[in-house]
Amino acid sequence: MAIILIVTVITQSDIRSVVTVTAAQSFEGAAAVTKAPNAASLSSALLSSSTKISSSATDQAASPAADKLVYLTFDDGPSKWTDHVLDILNKADVPATFFLLGEQAKRFPEIVNRIDEAGHSIGNHTYNHKYDELYSSFGVFWSQIKETEEVLRNITGIRTPLVRAPGGTYGHFDASYFKLLEQGGYKVFDWNLDSGDSKRKGVPASEIVKNVISAKQGNSMNVLMHDGAGHEETVKALPKIIEFYKSLGYEFRAITPEDTPVQFAVAPKMKNSNRPLPSNTWIQAYVVPNAALFESGAPLYVEAGGVETRLAAGEYELKMGQYQVPLRTVMERLGAEVRWNDKEQTAVITWRDAKITIYSASKILIVEALGEDPVEYAVDIDRKSGLIWLPLRTLLEVAGHDIVSVTYSSEERRVRAS
Ligand SMILES: [Zn+2]
Repeated sequence: MAIILIVTVITQSDIRSVVTVTAAQSFEGAAAVTKAPNAASLSSALLSSSTKISSSATDQAASPAADKLVYLTFDDGPSKWTDHVLDILNKADVPATFFLLGEQAKRFPEIVNRIDEAGHSIGNHTYNHKYDELYSSFGVFWSQIKETEEVLRNITGIRTPLVRAPGGTYGHFDASYFKLLEQGGYKVFDWNLDSGDSKRKGVPASEIVKNVISAKQGNSMNVLMHDGAGHEETVKALPKIIEFYKSLGYEFRAITPEDTPVQFAVAPKMKNSNRPLPSNTWIQAYVVPNAALFESGAPLYVEAGGVETRLAAGEYELKMGQYQVPLRTVMERLGAEVRWNDKEQTAVITWRDAKITIYSASKILIVEALGEDPVEYAVDIDRKSGLIWLPLRTLLEVAGHDIVSVTYSSEERRVRAS
């Protein structure tokens, strides 16, 4: 299908708002920019937007609900506004995607965990967002992606292949950036609806809502918003934006690596057209082997105490024929509480009526079950990317869940415990 590319260059800042529209759609209003209302008209605009919602809903109502998907995306976080965004998403029961900055993730690891635990998708938005560094050469872009990837993996235990380029790819990526990232196993996502919340400082919520609801809506909308510093107005606009898509029957989705990325075309002319290309040796050494990190394999299902949890291919490892798993990921998903004491390098797990203390430095584990003497075990503990990994069998057995069966097929591996 032919793609028409409209580029709106906003004079107030150097941010380019780019909207891709399929040939089947008209693009009136696709990049609607409205005059900033004053504070008094803000609340009235927000209050009246439900009327606008129903009027624009009439011409959309014809197509069946299941066909329409909306991906809400938030860039530049985490920041103090992310918690508010998460509260709103939770209340509305909709998933979203957060393209995080490594620098910010390091500052707010607990918010990164909250995003992950709420089931939203996490993507990589580079380490520091500085255009002049990121777009000076592919090597710099790559190193920021890798650094952020490790920061996020340290926090969540998950390696994300989802990437969004700061400022979008248009005018920033040449064909080599696209090609090398794909070769390295990454999926680059631009957007097809810019909420306009970063067109200038403090774009009011009413304008953000209007930008979204006045845009031409297609069957798969990828909406660009921001949850970085200074984005209080986006938080205010979000409930209306969610309400709008709900009223049109859209299904909310978080981006997955299997989704077809929305990508801008390569700009015919670029500021950094003479930037150096990485050598073949460098590509062979860094980019080519990287793709293996994202290879999909069979997930591992763990059943214990009547609870089942699923670990994706990258979330468990086979070590000497034993499943090695990240402690926190597995135990929390099985309903246990895990507390980490950084000073003492210990993890304390509370699960049902047992307390398990893991001494990571001395590789010792002590189980205290109700009414029984404490029992000490020596365990094979690995520290990887800041996480404690240990054998699944040990973990289940010390918690009183004996392994009943271990099965595997090409589709899944499964460990059943009592
Ligand atoms: Zn950004």
